[in-house]
Amino acid sequence: MSVKVVDQITSKRRYYPGTNPCLGATVHMTGNTNKGADAQAHANLQSRGNVRVASWHVSIDDKAAFQSYLDSRKCWHAGDGTGPGNTTTIAYELCVNSDGDYVKMVHNAAERIAMDVVEYGWTRDDIYQHNEFSSWGKDCPRELRGSKTDISWSDFVDLIFMYAGAGDVKPKPEPKPDSKADGRTDVDGYWGTDTTIELQYIFNPDAIDGEVWRQNSVWRSMNPALTWGWKWESTNTGGSPLIYKMQDWLGSDYRGERDGDIGPEFIKGLQRRLKQLGYYTGRIDGRLDKESLTIQGLQRAINDDKITN
Ligand SMILES: [Zn+2]
Repeated sequence: MSVKVVDQITSKRRYYPGTNPCLGATVHMTGNTNKGADAQAHANLQSRGNVRVASWHVSIDDKAAFQSYLDSRKCWHAGDGTGPGNTTTIAYELCVNSDGDYVKMVHNAAERIAMDVVEYGWTRDDIYQHNEFSSWGKDCPRELRGSKTDISWSDFVDLIFMYAGAGDVKPKPEPKPDSKADGRTDVDGYWGTDTTIELQYIFNPDAIDGEVWRQNSVWRSMNPALTWGWKWESTNTGGSPLIYKMQDWLGSDYRGERDGDIGPEFIKGLQRRLKQLGYYTGRIDGRLDKESLTIQGLQRAINDDKITN
């Protein structure tokens, strides 16, 4: 018996910068008992760019183990920000879909984690529950913590080391990253959560949340290309850390005040810069219309690694 390993590496950049030293395992359970909420569905969710601003390395069910991110990525799963859960462990999501075989899934998960025990030389102390990192004590992995079908957490760790010691666990093949050039952010001309995440990764990697805070609501109706994750306010428009950093990046292309706000002068500055980079040929009009060519240019430049801080 050997768990089927499938690589479905996404290029969606939902992880912290730098290299994960792979010091241990963080075990999660999806909490989703819907039929069909299996490992393939969870891998697909990550391939599309999870709207939850979350990510993990491996999804496991009763049929297979899907790898979505390379082990070397620092994924967003443990609820501890840049703490040790997110930045030093590999995350496994165990699927609890009601149309799956729970016991078979637990064995697959133990066997899959055992491969990494062998590869990275982990001990029992290196196998963590999400609960141990979660800043608010999330009850995860819930079914193992509750000893569903009499398999306790301790039984599960025993099972991992049984598989790790079995001797027939082969090293897993190193996954290859997705080579699709357009994989990072869709070029759709709308600046929503996904585009914000890409820009935060570049300009403000310590605060990646997909949101642009404290923006003056007068700019909202003028710029229909600005969609999800924008926090419009009529008072307390103190500006967004991301926009402040982008204003600094624009330098003399930005001719407005340093206010952290996406006003017409910021948009003109962005249009000037994208024009210089060869990603925009339209007018410097300070507006972001639907399917905006300015935003499409920005998205293409992000995907080509031409936007650097
Ligand atoms: Zn969890």
